[in-house]
Amino acid sequence: MTRRFNFGAGPAAMPEVVLEEVQQELLDWNGMGLSVMEISHRSPEFIEIAKQAESDFRDLLDITDNYAVLFLHGGATLQNAMIPLNLSPEGGTADYVNTGHWAKRSISEAKKYTDVKIAASSEDKNFTYFPKQSSWSLSKNTAYVHITPNETIGGLRFKDIEDSEVPVVADYSSGILSEVIDVSKFSLIYGGAQKNIGPAGLGFAIIKRELLGKAQSITPTMLNYSEMHEGESMYNTPPTFGWYVAGKIFKWLKSMGGVSEMEKINNKKAKKLYSFIDQSDFYENKINKEDRSIMNIPFQLNNEDLNSKFLEESRNSGLLALKGHRSVGGMRASIYNAMPEEGVDALVDFMETFEKERS
Ligand SMILES: *Cc1c(COP(=O)(O)O)cnc(C)c1O
Repeated sequence: MTRRFNFGAGPAAMPEVVLEEVQQELLDWNGMGLSVMEISHRSPEFIEIAKQAESDFRDLLDITDNYAVLFLHGGATLQNAMIPLNLSPEGGTADYVNTGHWAKRSISEAKKYTDVKIAASSEDKNFTYFPKQSSWSLSKNTAYVHITPNETIGGLRFKDIEDSEVPVVADYSSGILSEVIDVSKFSLIYGGAQKNIGPAGLGFAIIKRELLGKAQSITPTMLNYSEMHEGESMYNTPPTFGWYVAGKIFKWLKSMGGVSEMEKINNKKAKKLYSFIDQSDFYENKINKEDRSIMNIPFQLNNEDLNSKFLEESRNSGLLALKGHRSVGGMRASIYNAMPEEGVDALVDFMETFEKERS
């Protein structure tokens, strides 16, 4: 068996040791003689898995008790509807910062349930920068301001959020657990699991308890954060397998030294790739340097006719899923927590050779 380096944006690479553990336990979990997929979510055994996962997630992000932590169905996208339904009153207003593909998705969904105002946008420069917090123009009666601190497709990142009088809601799907964040600066942090947490099908929400219990009356039960919280994320049958694997990822992250250690490794990996791209005339990354993502690194070849050759040869070298999103073109390397530094080294070596062979 040869494991390859998966640079896909999601579902993304998972730590090999976690996959091995899952494999070992698959037929006989914890000596019970059955798979963890076959046990009741109401059993004491599964409740223990769920509790432990929450507790490790809280440790990793230093989440205080005034926040509820939820594990939900529906990835990040379902929460694009949940957020206005739960946080904005009927007839209310919500502000959004438009930074590209995923922000736009959040905006178009929110428009169905609240009056959306655009507080800032980087569309004027094709989403190559993140609008400074000081430039956000917040509405007087806004329920919250929504941001996408890591734009997975564009390769943009927002860092160092400052205190805000307006509740800040962040789609952290692709940035969560990749660097230290100050949870207390946010009112709601949410996302899908399949980038840095676990298998697809699971979503997470870290929500300030004071925001619970204010949903619009039309809110479906399954989309109601308060009801999900009261039911301990088990109002109905939760995605148990995803939750179990997420718990293993959290343990793995702790064994790696936690988020601050991951941040160091991630910065090192990203720096290697960006430095290589920047010194080359053959490759280019168009994002404003201080706003560059450390998780998703899009890059273009100066000769677009070579794109399919690049993809074919990289695939043959064991470097998978480097094709950029169609809206950006070119390539994209997603280098989440589970991408080892050797993967980035292999990519840089490949890019160097590919360039040399054509100059
Ligand atoms: C992947 C991604 C999404 C979509 O996630 P789903 O779980 O597929 O709904 C939304 N926002 C961001 C920033 C993403 O990276």
